[in-house]
Amino acid sequence: MILFLDLNSFFASVEQQLQPKLRGRPIGIIPNDCDSTCCIAASYEAKHFGVKTGCGIREAHERCPGITLVLARPDEYIKAHHKILEAVDTIYPVQGVYSIDEMSFKLTGPDREIDRARELAMGMKRAIREIAGEYLRCSIGIAPNRMLAKTASNMMKPDGLVVIQRHEIPDRLHALDITDFPGIADGIRNRLHRYGIHTTKQLCSASKQTLRKAWGGVLGEVWYHWLKGDDPHIAATKRRNCGHQHVLAPELREAEKARSVAIRLLHKAAARMRHEGFWCTKLTLNIKPIEAPSWVAYVNLEPCQDTVRLLHHLDQLWKLQPHPFIFCVGVTLGGLVRDSQIEQPLFEQDRKQTNLAHTMDQINRKHGHASIYYGAMHEGKDAAPRRIPFANVPDLDLPDTGGMGAFKQPALKLKQA
Ligand SMILES: [Mg+2]
Repeated sequence: MILFLDLNSFFASVEQQLQPKLRGRPIGIIPNDCDSTCCIAASYEAKHFGVKTGCGIREAHERCPGITLVLARPDEYIKAHHKILEAVDTIYPVQGVYSIDEMSFKLTGPDREIDRARELAMGMKRAIREIAGEYLRCSIGIAPNRMLAKTASNMMKPDGLVVIQRHEIPDRLHALDITDFPGIADGIRNRLHRYGIHTTKQLCSASKQTLRKAWGGVLGEVWYHWLKGDDPHIAATKRRNCGHQHVLAPELREAEKARSVAIRLLHKAAARMRHEGFWCTKLTLNIKPIEAPSWVAYVNLEPCQDTVRLLHHLDQLWKLQPHPFIFCVGVTLGGLVRDSQIEQPLFEQDRKQTNLAHTMDQINRKHGHASIYYGAMHEGKDAAPRRIPFANVPDLDLPDTGGMGAFKQPALKLKQA
């Protein structure tokens, strides 16, 4: 499940947060104070009078005579953005940031349960109010993929929370206009009309070929899957491995100390792999000694998500490595297989250990990395700091993860701030 969070009337709300005299009043944010400018955001009080993003200032005054026009302060909006990220990160790791006021979260494991997902959403709203400011409200949508989650976030504003569950698709969508979907604007709507698609019901029951033609390419197929509640960009992911390497500080180059760093790297890679919903079938240990050629060894595995089992195999590999002093160590989990392709572990012990790993991930997500970890990595626990917070799962936006490219093209359009 994806949780999509969209701040309501963001620029205007930030101003109302910073300037209490503006609270509860219709305001419009303008980028400069010349007569020909227009509102780049409007408070809900102004929207009530029909003032919208893009509204010229003369029109804004006509529609809403009492409106206060406020000169935009981009630096303040960026500061607020970071405060909001900080706030929501206390609840759940951010998966993607799409604009200054939009972000998404990938709910995994038990967090996909509807009650738990709602609880997380309410927690985020609360955290934003407490940490970023009581006047900052957001609408949250929860659905099986990002497109539907964003659509859901638009269904109730302000301060909304809308959940679309898989079994409610497509009926729940039928009440929407086709342009209510993010990314369907006039151009695509007109093309859809040419294929006889005027309603969401028709859109949801159109064939893959029709949508492909309407969109003029593979993007139409992506939409076909999105509308069914699938997550095609993930299905297309070509991600084959997940690993980390680390150049060791001089005091950690002795083999035994390097080993604890390797364990830390494994711990980190395994947590990321689980977070992204993969299982590995291969573990590779890579050693670069000082002034000797690299040493590499690997072991093939039954699909595995269990850090304890992986640690055991890492240990076996480590015993084979001959170097007393090591310059750089790398651990790679390879041959990744999707959750959906996995039969759950057969043996009770494996199941327990996999669950334990997921539980440790949750604790570390909530209380910071390495809040709980395996004793063997104690020495190396701080050796490989996260340059980019794990919470951002930065790989998801990099082209080398394969299929995400397909998701990038239809980048959901930022309608308004
Ligand atoms: Mg917004």
